[in-house]
Amino acid sequence: MNSNKKPWPLKTIHGIRERIDTNPDFQRPAVWGRSQKQLLVDTILRDYDVPKLYWRKIASKPDKYDVVDGQQRLRAVWDFFEGKFKLPQDTDPIDDMEIAGCKYDDLPDELRMKFDVYALDVVVLEDTDEDEVREMFLRLQNGTSLKAQEKRNAYPGRMRDFVRELSKHAFFGKVPFLNSRYTYDHIAAQMVCMELAGGPTNVKDADLNRMYENNKEFDAKSLEARSVVRILNTLNEIFSEKTPELERYNVISLYCVVAELLKQYVIEDVKTNFFNWFVEFERERHTQEAKPSDEAIPEWVTYKEKISHSTDAEESIRWRMEYMLRNLLEKFTGLRLKDNQRDFTHLQRLAIFRRDGGICQLRIKCEGVKLTWDDWHCDHKTPWSKGGKTTVENGQVSCSACNTSKGGEE
Ligand SMILES: [Zn+2]
Repeated sequence: MNSNKKPWPLKTIHGIRERIDTNPDFQRPAVWGRSQKQLLVDTILRDYDVPKLYWRKIASKPDKYDVVDGQQRLRAVWDFFEGKFKLPQDTDPIDDMEIAGCKYDDLPDELRMKFDVYALDVVVLEDTDEDEVREMFLRLQNGTSLKAQEKRNAYPGRMRDFVRELSKHAFFGKVPFLNSRYTYDHIAAQMVCMELAGGPTNVKDADLNRMYENNKEFDAKSLEARSVVRILNTLNEIFSEKTPELERYNVISLYCVVAELLKQYVIEDVKTNFFNWFVEFERERHTQEAKPSDEAIPEWVTYKEKISHSTDAEESIRWRMEYMLRNLLEKFTGLRLKDNQRDFTHLQRLAIFRRDGGICQLRIKCEGVKLTWDDWHCDHKTPWSKGGKTTVENGQVSCSACNTSKGGEE
């Protein structure tokens, strides 16, 4: 990694604003308030020291700089140049010059000049790869007020990349809260963590950090990865519009409920009514919460406790999931367990092959090709995932082209 440190006058830094990218994806969103910006300008006008900035030059964008560290300071300087804020009314004079309430243009000439030529130390990094820069960012930010997920987002590895992708899933368009400070990434990370554990587990920051650390080589095509995506797809199907009841803790509980349903039950039976069930569940919860606790149903009182604190603890998540599932099963009495046996036995296969004369019954890609015993697929007519039984009656001969084309869960 090459780096050089040079003093850059503020005026120059403002002049090349268009060429400085303050939002590379490891950066945190702008969070400085007005008073922090005012303090920085005051610091500069009084000639105090401002910490170094770190920029990166990328070979593919030779005229541009990515800001590794110093985004807030840059924005403050630019905003001041552009008259977007003034100094506080109670600012003390500098060398008898009044600056209280001044915007950049109102400053005495001498101070305006001083501001223009004040030089920030800028370290420009060259020939650095993405991981090096992220590590540097992490080191620079450690010990500051960065939230845990922001730190994780700067942590190199495939788990980070996978979670970042998940956070863009369409389902997150259905929740009522914003992605401020990477809330979606945080929730997506919790989902992956539970998937890796095979069910409810602790998903606190320490657990998620460990997951990122231990899964730097995470495979985005692994069973677990595909399972998370499948559950999110199902949730996205169930919730067709933005749903105010989808509060944070509910998203986690529902994830577990749907995961369990997909594992054990024929979810097609409930998919269309799931939304109504959930809205009704929430209505009941609010009704119960409005009652004095000695009049409310005790289990709802417990439920309220479980969603009020330690919502990231395994015990709370498991309790909520089981309570919701039980409530759901009471409403949908016909919910069927999936046929536990997925693979056809040898004798079933033989019976199906003989019955169909070894001829592809699907005829999607072929005209009914005649197959040999060592080159055919035994297809569930009604897919297994939709409750189709592994029976001779529900089995049929298929060629591999038709089988692939039918797709789904077969
Ligand atoms: Zn075929």
